[in-house]
Amino acid sequence: MYGSINRVIPSREEDRLIWTGDVSGLFSVKGVLNLAESKVYAIPTWSIPTRVRKIAPAKVIQFFWQLIKNRIATRANLMVRRVQIENAGRCVFCGLEPETTSHLMPFCPMSWKLLNLVMSREGITWCCPNGIPNLMLEWMDLRHKSDNLLWEMTPFSIFWSIWLERNQVIFNNHPASPESIWDLHISRISAWVHGWWKECPYSSYDFSHHFDAIRLKPQTPNLRSSVWNAPDRGFFKANVDGSSMGNPGPTEVIAILEVLQFCKEHGIRNLVIESDSTLVVSWVNNSSNRPWKLRNELNLIDNLCEELAVVAVDHIFREANPIADHLSKSGVERLVPLNVFFGFTSP
Ligand SMILES: [Zn+2]
Repeated sequence: MYGSINRVIPSREEDRLIWTGDVSGLFSVKGVLNLAESKVYAIPTWSIPTRVRKIAPAKVIQFFWQLIKNRIATRANLMVRRVQIENAGRCVFCGLEPETTSHLMPFCPMSWKLLNLVMSREGITWCCPNGIPNLMLEWMDLRHKSDNLLWEMTPFSIFWSIWLERNQVIFNNHPASPESIWDLHISRISAWVHGWWKECPYSSYDFSHHFDAIRLKPQTPNLRSSVWNAPDRGFFKANVDGSSMGNPGPTEVIAILEVLQFCKEHGIRNLVIESDSTLVVSWVNNSSNRPWKLRNELNLIDNLCEELAVVAVDHIFREANPIADHLSKSGVERLVPLNVFFGFTSP
């Protein structure tokens, strides 16, 4: 709903009633039924954009994931864990309310001011959904001027900057101001972009003064990468594949489920999973589009992803997934079970 309100652009035509549930604008009973079904059965989901994950540091991605899940160590969350907090766990910025996740981001006057600065730079008046998860579902609809990718990165940079500044206030008694957080968020985005795009022609001055005029490089053609990349520091990566000599969907789902169960058993968290099946990756990432026969397995995957802090389930081209591909293919023809021995060594 917030997205619909924010998208309204005043028209020069005379006002008239239209039925927005259909592209024709005309009301029909069938249209109502379709609309109702899509609202009832579709559960909106949001996941961290792949492009942002490649540009922002891993610790920021990890923080954002925890923010979405209300797992950051706010004072209210610490008090739930029976940690003694002075001043009844009130917000260190405003002192007005308990520091819950939703107060700190986005409803604390400090964060609220910063978000309004973002929106006024974008040239829009807006209404804010109730909390970051819903805000992220609407986020891309709020973009009016900025470069698409810069806009995608903005919440990561702004909420991370607010969090670090909040820590400075608590641990170093550092006075905080919206202006200083604003400057930090701009210089962060600038640093992330320069780290990712070495030939970036925009200076940090451009980022702070002409943010909405910056256009990042056009998408490079989607070259099929045949290279497997190691996960960022602090993360684990699991490459899975399923082979069934026919319909691979169910075996790919089971492969993901089994890797999650393996990780649970061995206490492995902060995980990235890669599969070469675009279909299965879409089922895992989007709960509204799942085959009912695999509902149970996919529900189990949802629960384990949450429990094990799975940061992403990504698609990878088969050429970059050779070991999993080979093991799964040879597994179909294997007559005796494959025994694998492994161990973790501490550094
Ligand atoms: Zn506050």
